[in-house]
Amino acid sequence: MSDGPILLLGGTGEARALAERLVAADIAVISSLAGRVRDPRLPVGDVRIGGFGGVDGLADWIRTHHVVGVVDATHPFATTMTYHAATVADRMDLPLLRVRRPAWTPTADDSWVAVPDMRAAAREIESRAARQRALRVFLTTGRQDVGVFAGITDAAFLIRVVDPPTSDLPAHHRILRSRGPYDLSSERELLRANEIDVLVTKNSGGELTRAKLTAAAGLGVDVVMVDRPAEPASGDSVDSVAAAIDWVHDHLTGG
Ligand code: NAP
Repeated sequence: MSDGPILLLGGTGEARALAERLVAADIAVISSLAGRVRDPRLPVGDVRIGGFGGVDGLADWIRTHHVVGVVDATHPFATTMTYHAATVADRMDLPLLRVRRPAWTPTADDSWVAVPDMRAAAREIESRAARQRALRVFLTTGRQDVGVFAGITDAAFLIRVVDPPTSDLPAHHRILRSRGPYDLSSERELLRANEIDVLVTKNSGGELTRAKLTAAAGLGVDVVMVDRPAEPASGDSVDSVAAAIDWVHDHLTGG
């Protein structure tokens, strides 16, 4: 086995599953969480919580803890952390793996408008609100992105978040605090009871929050789908926990 630990950048179900598998295989790992969620689901094994202090802070932390490789299993939209990890891994010549669940792709039943980023999603909602009176929007983008929609006054927003947003909010809104996973029947009921016209979501991928898309398709609710941001060119990428375990064995533990 290698001398130092793997740094596992987390905040996702994949990261928790990976931590569990690595600990069970007796591979040294320290999971890292940003500390955004008040009551996070903690992975098994060693955990540190909070930002590193940018690229230099991350490099210092890696050096101090004799990290042998970085596994970036952050959410596909955690762009800053992902680029910091890639910059530091390049600089220190460390093995780097990104674990990204596959993106969602539309089926024949889906009615999606793909947009490149959250600002484009807000513009899409604004133009729909100009065409349809009392547009009802279900916003599931996470609390950090709610502020982008704050200037929209002629739509009603149902905003689902884990912790309450701290940014400005749209004039007409209701906050629904909950944490997935969600099942199809409750998602269908939520869309129906709130007479939702359009759902806004990031293309997070994965099964835990997919039910809202199936529910929307069944009810003819449009979806504004925010595409994933670009990934750094350096490092390796896999799309499953099993493939990540193989990569760790191939690159960090000597097979
Ligand atoms: P981000 O914008 O990429 O990162 C902003 C800063 O937060 C980073 O520069 C870093 O601070 C700190 N940070 C982020 N992830 C970290 C981690 N795993 N460990 C230690 N510090 C971390 O990240 P974000 O989008 O705010 O996401 C924060 C966390 O929530 C991530 O762990 C991510 O996996 C999880 N998450 C994000 C989303 C989403 O939609 N973005 C959804 C679900 C879960 P320093 O520069 O000080 O090091």
